Amino acid sequence: MPLFKRKQLHTMKRCPECFYELPLNAKECISCHARVGPVAPDGRAKRPTDWISYLLCIVSWAVFIFYVWWAFLRT
Ligand SMILES: [Zn+2]
Repeated sequence: MPLFKRKQLHTMKRCPECFYELPLNAKECISCHARVGPVAPDGRAKRPTDWISYLLCIVSWAVFIFYVWWAFLRT
């Protein structure tokens, strides 16, 4: 059985914040300037993963754990 590539169903995607119609390759909403990801099956754009926030969260936890070790557990 041949494997068919899934056809792109949407020609536009909607901003997840304000539902403004955007071109499929848009990275940012023209209307509300929210960052938008690739189109989801329902025609809305996905919210892009905020890697910087994830990274900041991990770094702040690492600093906190290091501080606890430094302040209380050091011999
Ligand atoms: Zn928008």
